[in-house]
Formats: sequence, structure tokens, C-alpha cells
Amino acid sequence: MIKYISTRNSALKVSSSKAVLDGQAPDGGLYIPECLDDIRTDYHDIISKDFRGMAKAVWNIFFPDYGQDLIDELVERSYRGKFSAPEITPLVKVGDRFVLELYHGPTSAFKDVALSALPNLMTAAREMNDFTDDIMILTATSGDTGSAALCGFSDVPGTRIIVFYPDGGVSETQKLQMVTAPGSNAYACAIRGNFDDAQTGVKRLFREIPHPVPGVSLSSANSINIGRLVPQIVYYFAAYSQLLAAGEIKDGDKVDFIVPTGNFGDIMAGYFALKMGLPAGRLICASNKNDVLTEFLETGHYDRQRTFYKTTSPSMDILVSSNLERLLYYVCGEEHTVQYMKDLAEKGEYTITPEELAEIQSVFSGVYASDEEGAAAIRSAFESEHYLMDTHTSIAWACLDKCGSQGAASVVLSTASPYKFSRAVLEALGAEVSPSDEENMNRCRELTGAPIPSGLAGIFSRTILHDGVISIDEMMNFVIGKSITK
Ligand SMILES: *Cc1c(COP(=O)(O)O)cnc(C)c1O
Repeated sequence: MIKYISTRNSALKVSSSKAVLDGQAPDGGLYIPECLDDIRTDYHDIISKDFRGMAKAVWNIFFPDYGQDLIDELVERSYRGKFSAPEITPLVKVGDRFVLELYHGPTSAFKDVALSALPNLMTAAREMNDFTDDIMILTATSGDTGSAALCGFSDVPGTRIIVFYPDGGVSETQKLQMVTAPGSNAYACAIRGNFDDAQTGVKRLFREIPHPVPGVSLSSANSINIGRLVPQIVYYFAAYSQLLAAGEIKDGDKVDFIVPTGNFGDIMAGYFALKMGLPAGRLICASNKNDVLTEFLETGHYDRQRTFYKTTSPSMDILVSSNLERLLYYVCGEEHTVQYMKDLAEKGEYTITPEELAEIQSVFSGVYASDEEGAAAIRSAFESEHYLMDTHTSIAWACLDKCGSQGAASVVLSTASPYKFSRAVLEALGAEVSPSDEENMNRCRELTGAPIPSGLAGIFSRTILHDGVISIDEMMNFVIGKSITK
């Protein structure tokens, strides 16, 4: 039965359910399976199933202490009836490449795949570990995580959730998705400040009031939780399975994946899929102008001391990609990982050895594309293939244009619906943009002819339930208040 260890202390060993319950290891490290050999399997056993069957098979390997029966139930609860596409993550052929659409969940972003699952994994872990406190999830969001987390935890017994977002710092669509979120246990609140202020405020609350009131414990829905990462492994198998079924590849052919990357969670899931035995070729890490990972994958030097750019792919605007620490442990070992993370915290940079870099480069490539290159990709894919993609997917698309691929097939992971970023998409097309996102969504729909996902179409007429705007100093009282109310 596989055990989880901290990336900073392999002597710290816990069960999979404890790793899900804790989120982050107490020493600041991230939980990972102790040994990659333990997750090795015959991929044929996985890809012969439908999405939920694949999820059950993958979860069973990574979460052995839950037991097969409970996992079957949790997978059904997480995905049955929640996604608008029968394949959950459909693969679409666009020109000579494939797009894996991960955005058919309730909030039209790929985070739904993981955040539909995490609350179920957490509440089961709570019972398995005789944990009686209610779990209060705190999240700071720059847009996408907030709505997916609010939706995932909505009315899940034993949990509550508060999402803090920067006032004026998210799009109209993202804001409406959050402030109209139903759920008697779910709250969104704007803070006066930027995203960093919100994030710093949340981190402080974790330190200062881990138990805001007796019977309530704080936890995080961030992708440092292994319970958010494992559900994402499944769609790499789903992509391979669909390529085979469509006769686009032969069994055993290697497939390249191009992943629009921020926190390195999505692409790390791809690495686990590869280590499980999926015939993946290269994992191409696509970044926007915040190209810290591109430099790292080319030179082995990670340097977060650089200008932070706000781009049209905001969910990838990130300078410290937390999940990279998981890869570092497997490639560089514990001692070096601890040193690198210390250097990153103290000096803002670290450099891995040439041997370590070579091993990482044997699987990963790093490429980046600018906003303009992304916009050009949206335009050309729409003009030549009548395929409309969002501003995050288009970065991956443009990166593939730049680096090319030797795989039997190239799969671009699509992380958000174009309707969710309708304003930037219209701008990329050179079309007229309205001050209203409702109008912008309608204009995108006129272009594609495809219906607006119901979760997005409804937000403009739904009741606003959360209209609070508070200062950073008021966050603590807000959390305590919501912890008391039942
Ligand atoms: C979160 C997000 C990403 C980045 O995913 P990571 O797992 O953080 O690398 C890319 N695109 C969209 C739309 C996202 O919401």
C-alpha cells in the first residue's frame, strides 16, 4: 500500500487519506507517493474504461486506504451528472493537432475536474481519520480557483468555504460567478487590495487562527493538496484512450502533451501519468510572459526575482510554481530539494546540477509565448479551423507552434472555455468589444454558434448573494464570524 512522504522529510510518512486531510505537510513540504515504482501499472487496464472507470482505477492506486468500494462511490459523486460532455474531458481534432477540452465542468474551467473531487476526498478522509472538526476552506483567488472551489464545496456536509478576491482585480464574469454562488456554507468576499494582499492575508490566518472557533479547523483547496492533483492524472489517460479509439495512434505510440502552466499542478499530473506507464513522449510546459519555468527548464536556474507581468492569461501569472517541488524531490532527492527550497525562500533563486537538469530535460521542455503570440494563435485557429479557444489554451497552442513536436500526436490541454474570457478572446480576434461581459459572451456565441455553458449564461440574472468588501485587517473577524454561524 503506497505511503505519502513530505518532500522535505522522507521519514514523515502518512496514509493517503491523512495527506488529503492535511493538505500540506507540517514541515512545509508537499506530500508525494514515497516511491514512483509503487504507482507503475499496465496502462491498458486503465484506458479500456470510460472516464469514471479510469478515475476509479487511478484513484485506487493513489488512495489505497480509502478502499475500492468507497472510491467507486466518491468518483460517482464527483463526476456523475456534473459535466456537460459525456466524455467529461473530450478530445477534439483541430487541424493536425488535438485539443483536450478540460472545461466542461460547472464553472467552465479545468479546475472543476479536481475541485469536483477534492471535497468528497476530504470529507471521507475526515471520517477515516476520526477528525470531528468542521473543515473551513480558505482560498485567495485571482479569479478561476474561487468559483470552482465555491462550486465544489457548495453544501458539502462538514465543510464551509470562504473565497477572498481582490476588489476590482477580477473580470466581471469571474466576479459574478463568485458573488452569485449558492450554497449555504459558501461565501465570497472582496478585499481592498491586490491578489498578493489577499494571499498574504490568508496565509496569516492559517498561522494565527488555525482553529477560528472550537470545532472548526482551517484548510486549503490549493493545488498543493495531493487530493487536487491525482484527479488530474486521469485525463492524460482519457486523451490517450480517445486517440486510440479514433484510430489516430497505434497502441504504444508516444504522445506529446502541451500544458498551459501556472502552479505546475496540471503538468505534474502528466508526469505521474507517465511514471504510471502511459506512453507519453514530451511534456511541454507552456508559460506566458512570466517565463520563470522556461528559464528553469532551459538552464536549471530558478529565479523568482523578476518583473511580474499581468497578462491576458491571468491564471498563469505566477512566479513561484509550488508543485515543481514534487518533481525536484524525485529527480534531485531530499537533501537537494530541502536546500533548493531554502535558497528560494532566502535568496529568491536556486540552481540544480547539470545531471539533474539533464534528467528533467529528458521529459520536459519549457517554452513561452507572449500575449500577442497567444492572440495571433486565437485568430489563426479561428480563421483556418473555425475553432475558438481561450487565452490560456492559446498560449499552449502558440508554444507548440514555436517548438514543434516529434510525438505520434500532439495534445494541447485546454484549460478554460473561451466564453469565460470572452472580452480578451474578442480583442484577440480584432472584433468589437463591449463594456458588458454578457454582451461579449453573446458575440462569441454568434461567432461559434455553440451554446454558452449554462453555468455561465445564468450568472447575469442570478441574485447577488455576497456583496461584502472588507479591508485586510477585517479578514480575521470575517472568518471567525462565518465559523460561528451554523
Ligand atoms: C489554474 C489554471 C492554469 C494553470 O494550471 P496549474 O495547474 O496551476 O499549472 C491554466 N489555465 C487556467 C484557465 C487555469 O485556471
